[in-house]
Amino acid sequence: MHELSVAQSIVEIIQQHVPRSEWERVAAVRLKIGAIAGVVPESLEFSFQAITAESTMSHARLEIESIPFRIHCHTCLTTAENEIGVAQCSSCGSTDTNIISGSELDVSEIEIADPEAVRP
Ligand SMILES: [Zn+2]
Repeated sequence: MHELSVAQSIVEIIQQHVPRSEWERVAAVRLKIGAIAGVVPESLEFSFQAITAESTMSHARLEIESIPFRIHCHTCLTTAENEIGVAQCSSCGSTDTNIISGSELDVSEIEIADPEAVRP
């Protein structure tokens, strides 16, 4: 299950960027996931919850921003959303194109809760 290893990587990214004493205050992890990144957001959320449920990061939730698949055509100079995975320009039919977005799989932000908010 691909999403499980992605979820594991997200936990590792949190561990690398957030001091251990703050792990229980991680409230949200913002992700950018492209349309051709090969990750199903629902599966990823499920996997992440499963991994973190019994851990100090049990309060963390994922906030996923979906990035559309877009290409830029060098022939007609159009930049547009395209059928997922198709690199041929839908305006002029040219294959002289670049993928502009859609392959992202990035952690863009880790939100730490206000310490006062979670203290019992
Ligand atoms: Zn074109």
